[in-house]
Amino acid sequence: MQNLLDLDVQQLTAWFAEQGEKPFRAKQVLRWMYKAGESDFDAMSDLAVSLREKLKQTARIDTPTVMREETASDGTRKWLLDVGTGNAVETVYIPEEDRGTLCVSTQAGCALDCAFCSTGKQGFNRNLSTAEIIGQVWWANHELGKNPEGNWPVTNVVLMGMGEPLLNFDNTVHALRLMLDDHAYGLSRRRVTVSTSGVVPAMDRLREECPVALAISLHAPNDELRNVLVPINQKYPLRELMAACRRYLEKAPRDFVTFEYVMLAGVNDREQDARELIRLVRDVPCKFNLIPFNPFPQAPYQRSDMETVKRFRDILMQAEIVTTIRKVRGDDIAAACGQLAGQVQDKTKRTHRLAGGA
Ligand code: SAH
Ligand code: SF4
Repeated sequence: MQNLLDLDVQQLTAWFAEQGEKPFRAKQVLRWMYKAGESDFDAMSDLAVSLREKLKQTARIDTPTVMREETASDGTRKWLLDVGTGNAVETVYIPEEDRGTLCVSTQAGCALDCAFCSTGKQGFNRNLSTAEIIGQVWWANHELGKNPEGNWPVTNVVLMGMGEPLLNFDNTVHALRLMLDDHAYGLSRRRVTVSTSGVVPAMDRLREECPVALAISLHAPNDELRNVLVPINQKYPLRELMAACRRYLEKAPRDFVTFEYVMLAGVNDREQDARELIRLVRDVPCKFNLIPFNPFPQAPYQRSDMETVKRFRDILMQAEIVTTIRKVRGDDIAAACGQLAGQVQDKTKRTHRLAGGA
């Protein structure tokens, strides 16, 4: 049985061809699945009954199973989705006045082990399938329902949930294409953001295959500190990362990259860090998003105080770098950045290493 949520537009068209069906049938079914939010073939009223019966024999539309749901006092919603064999990932919906942003996960756990990230501390279990990634958007829209104008509430997607999207490249790109395709969600490339810790070769591939808005988890102004905070820096150091950002911008839907910078008290939040950053990003058109560190149990860091964060912002702004401070959303339900834990059976046994080494 083929799960139709696993196929992007091109693949679904090919699958219909294999079944001896016309290509426009794929478009019809896509519109039912994504524009109407339908998962029942019987409801697809413009398909012949015989085709609906055939689809029921060969395919399914397998939407996520939700284990838990929470709503924060600021309206942020979080769903814990079952991804099998004891694993679960989280999806977070953040309502704002003029948009609704969904923060989507791409892996159960993460292998990259950034020092300040609770997902990283759980180790890695597996990549999510295309269906599990796009299914998060499907689910949120389904749960929240269309607004009075008949539009879906999810207007923006950020791949900033659990996992490193560029290490689950193919499934991520298939899901991105469904977010963008006019027969599916039809979001503009500017409204879909991939966040990466800096997997340089995959940034180049993304630029060729599906350029969407790009955010980079920078977090440090030099290699010495970044090697510790974001260990993949040991493989792709800052000089290479900055060059990859410049290459990406040749094809990006926006004319800047966003640097995310988690503010860790006494670690990377000093004035000299800000000044070093300005020199680092000199040749990269960019904006900065400062993220107050969100604590989690046993986290080895503390959040910088607001005064320090604002001073840091002002130094960057004086150098004409547009800098925002990320609002903390949903922290009373542990839905803020870096707090997403889900439940992951750690295949990498990182927890043991940590317990022994820390
Ligand atoms: N793996 C990707 C995307 C997921 S993480 C990446 O690293 O970019 C999404 C963002 O949350 C990243 O910028 C990450 O560095 C940040 N983050 C992780 N842990 C955090 C924490 N405890 N507090 C604040 N931000 C955190
Ligand atoms: Fe993985 Fe991103 Fe967390 Fe680093 S910050 S461990 S890359 S999810």
